[in-house]
Amino acid sequence: MYRSFLKSAIIFLVLFLLSGSAFGMQEKIVVDLIVNGDYVVTIDDQQPVIFNGAVAVTDGRIVAVGQKNEIAATYDAPQILPGEGMVVMPGLVNGHTHAAMVLFRGLADDKALMDWLQNYIFPAEKQFVDAEFVRIGTQLACWEMIRGGTTTFVDMYFYPDTIARVTEECGLRAIIASAIIDYPSPGFTGWDDSFAAAKSFVKSWQNHPRIIPAIGPHAPYTVSPEHLVQAHEAAKELNVPLVIHVSETQHENDDMVKRYGKTSVEFLNELGVLDSRMIAAHMVWPTDSEIKLLVKNKVGVVHNPGSNLKLASGFAPVPAMLKEGVKIGLGTDGAASNNDLDMWEEIRLAALIHKGNLHDPTVIPAATALRMATLGGAEAIGLAREIGAVTKGRRADLIQVRIGDDAHEMPMYNIISHLVYSTKSTDVATVIVDGKILMQNGDFLTLDRKTISREVKALSQRIAVLVGPR
Ligand SMILES: [Zn+2]
Repeated sequence: MYRSFLKSAIIFLVLFLLSGSAFGMQEKIVVDLIVNGDYVVTIDDQQPVIFNGAVAVTDGRIVAVGQKNEIAATYDAPQILPGEGMVVMPGLVNGHTHAAMVLFRGLADDKALMDWLQNYIFPAEKQFVDAEFVRIGTQLACWEMIRGGTTTFVDMYFYPDTIARVTEECGLRAIIASAIIDYPSPGFTGWDDSFAAAKSFVKSWQNHPRIIPAIGPHAPYTVSPEHLVQAHEAAKELNVPLVIHVSETQHENDDMVKRYGKTSVEFLNELGVLDSRMIAAHMVWPTDSEIKLLVKNKVGVVHNPGSNLKLASGFAPVPAMLKEGVKIGLGTDGAASNNDLDMWEEIRLAALIHKGNLHDPTVIPAATALRMATLGGAEAIGLAREIGAVTKGRRADLIQVRIGDDAHEMPMYNIISHLVYSTKSTDVATVIVDGKILMQNGDFLTLDRKTISREVKALSQRIAVLVGPR
């Protein structure tokens, strides 16, 4: 009896020791995914860069960020992405684009904004833009954005239902604004029908986990004051963002002064439509007092350096706006005025052009440029609590970027400088949105590239024929 008790006790003790519980070792917590990196660039002030880091993800959210060995000791996952030669960082936020316009890439270059818009883009849109154009164009844009590590984009275009469906399928996160304008636009005769459709689009996509529908009056110079107020009231009532182009060119401000006696921002303020739900693209020509209005009303601004340079719209006073506390993100604008959707290029341009313009190499340091493309962008578009940084509790919108593999990637002394001044979009290896992998080692898991390129070729050949020899 005693011997058999002793035997059972010994067996129990051996099993207990083997289980590890005797040494205070706990069962590992099983999460969906662990992403490793030689560096984790968090964009979080508390712990900006973690050397040999890892991120644990479950149910689409980040549950832990820390040293690789700490994470490995606490968490296990069915999928663990190795991190040798990789940086893990938040996915990039493209704060302003017109995704489907990738199909007009290179259609008209080297023109001033008004000439470009009125003589090339508006007529081309009238002739070619329909739901099919928007479907194919948005698919191509999603491919390009995923390739370059963009995980969230803010779009403003026609056929928003189609944009939302394509975005839903490809797995990206987006704020999608139905573009509305006083003139006839693709599918609409003018303001009334396009505004009604914009409201019903918002209602049918509200509460989607990754897609935020929005109202998108084109600009203060293409939408009447009454309609701007209507659009703002609708956005407020439906509790969605209001996406608009503001103060893009000096010509716009001159025109606004002629028409209403005020420059764009002051005019919008007088209308009572400036508030925190506004995502204002460009903001190249705000006056000092207008910058103060942007801060006071918590307007989100999206700087589009590539588009502003190409259309010679001017240099946005980004250093001054940042100093005053304006929330600023970066955007590519549509590919017709860029000509790509590469956010790394915008990061570098944002870090460079203001130095040249102000003859001061200390303005927009690398870390500031990188922040504008991530957390700054998230702040500008009202999503800073959910995305923009690698911290516990935020949505798992992450990218892995290769370092030290290709000639331009070595040597590497400072990871932030490296990301801003040397990294290319083709260095992005992995793209994760909401915890789901969209691209892994260059393989696209949510897109059919062959079908997209076949459709793009067929459609662009039709456009080329109709546009005539160039
Ligand atoms: Zn735009």
